[in-house]
Amino acid sequence: MQAAVVKEFHAPLEIQELPIPEPGPGQVLVRIEFSGLCHTDIHAANGDWPAKPTPPFIPGHEGIGRVEKLGAGVIAPAIGDRVAIAWLGSACGHCRYCIDGWETLCEQQQNSGYSVDGTFADYVVVAAAFACPVPDGVSSRDAAPLTCAGVTTYKAVKVAKVAPAETVAVFGIGGLGHLAVQYARIAGGFVIAVDIQDDKLAMATELGADHVVNARTADPVAAIQALGGADVAIALAASPASFDQAFRSLRRGGRLVCVALPADDGVLTIPIFDAVIGGKSVIGSIVGNRNDLADVFALHAAGRTKVIIADRKLDQVNESIADVVSGRIAARVVFQL
Ligand code: NAD
Ligand code: ZN
Ligand code: ZN
Repeated sequence: MQAAVVKEFHAPLEIQELPIPEPGPGQVLVRIEFSGLCHTDIHAANGDWPAKPTPPFIPGHEGIGRVEKLGAGVIAPAIGDRVAIAWLGSACGHCRYCIDGWETLCEQQQNSGYSVDGTFADYVVVAAAFACPVPDGVSSRDAAPLTCAGVTTYKAVKVAKVAPAETVAVFGIGGLGHLAVQYARIAGGFVIAVDIQDDKLAMATELGADHVVNARTADPVAAIQALGGADVAIALAASPASFDQAFRSLRRGGRLVCVALPADDGVLTIPIFDAVIGGKSVIGSIVGNRNDLADVFALHAAGRTKVIIADRKLDQVNESIADVVSGRIAARVVFQL
C-alpha cells in the first residue's frame, strides 16, 4: 500500500510502499477513501508538542473508508461498512473517564496518526469499537473533515454551553474555525469571526458569521469589546497571543474554550482579579467522543453544515502542508486515496 510517512521531524514526508497491515484481535482493516489534513498532523510531523510521536509513523486522523477485513472476535462493524477513523484510535473502556462518556480523557488512549499509524495510507487498522459508522446521508469526502475539525468544534461549542443570543467569538477560521462558526450558529449564537486573512473572514461571513475582525489590521479585543464583549471565545489559532486576545475579549461571565495547541507548552497568563470579579472560565477541550461524532454526522446529513474542501492526492502531501502553513487553503485539504 502507499502511505505518507514521517521519517524525522521537520523533514518532508516520504511516500512509501508498505505492506498492508493485519488486523489484530478486536481490530478491523479499513481501505481508506478520503483523509483530511488537520493542523495537528503538521504539529505531529514537526514534533511540536511536549508529548511527541516516534518516527517513523503515518499521520492522519480524519480517515473515511470501508471495512475490508475483521480481526479475531470482532462483532461490529461488518465487512463493507463505511467508517470514520478519528484522533481517538482507542481508549481502555473501563476507567472513570471512559465509563462516564469522557473517553477522550482516558489515560490509556491511543491516537491515530500519532501514537499509532494513521490514515495517510491506503489501509489502516483500528480498534473495531472506534471505527465510527458514517451514515448514508454524508459523503465520504465531507465526512473526512467532520471527523476531527467537525467533532472538535461541535464539542467546543457544547462544553461552552452556548445559549441562544449569546455572542461567540471564533479565533482562527481554518479547518476547525469554518465549522465552529456553523455550530455556534446552530446553538443560536451570534458569531464574531477573527482571523488574520480577509479571504478567511469572507468565508466566515458566507457561513453565517455576524461580524468579522482581521486581527492583523485591527485590535480584536477592542473590536469585540465595542460589540459588548464575547460570552464565549473559542481559541482555534495556534498562537499564544491569540489566546490572550480571546480571553480579553470576554465579557463578564464569559467562557474561553482552548482548542488550538501551540508548539511547546504555550502559556496563557490569566489576570486573576478580572477572572474572579468577572466570573470568567477557561476550559480546555479535546476532540469529542463517538456520540459527538454521530451528532456531527446527523447535523450534516440534515443539511445543517457545509464543509469547504481543497481536493488533493496523497503524493501532494508536502505541498499541501506548505499551503496550510502559509494560509493558502480556504478551510480543509482532503486527500483522495
Ligand atoms: P488551520 O491551519 O486550518 O487554521 C488555523 C487558522 O488560524 C487559519 O485560518 C489562520 O489564518 C488562523 N490564524 C493564524 N494565526 C492567527 C492569529 N494570530 N489570530 C487569528 N487567526 C489566526 O488549523 P486547524 O486544522 O483548524 O487547527 C487549529 C489548531 O487546533 C491546531 O493547533 C490544531 O493542532 C488544533 N486542534 C486541536 C484539537 C483539539 O481537540 N483540541 C483538534 C484538532 C486540532
Ligand atoms: Zn485533528
Ligand atoms: Zn479509559
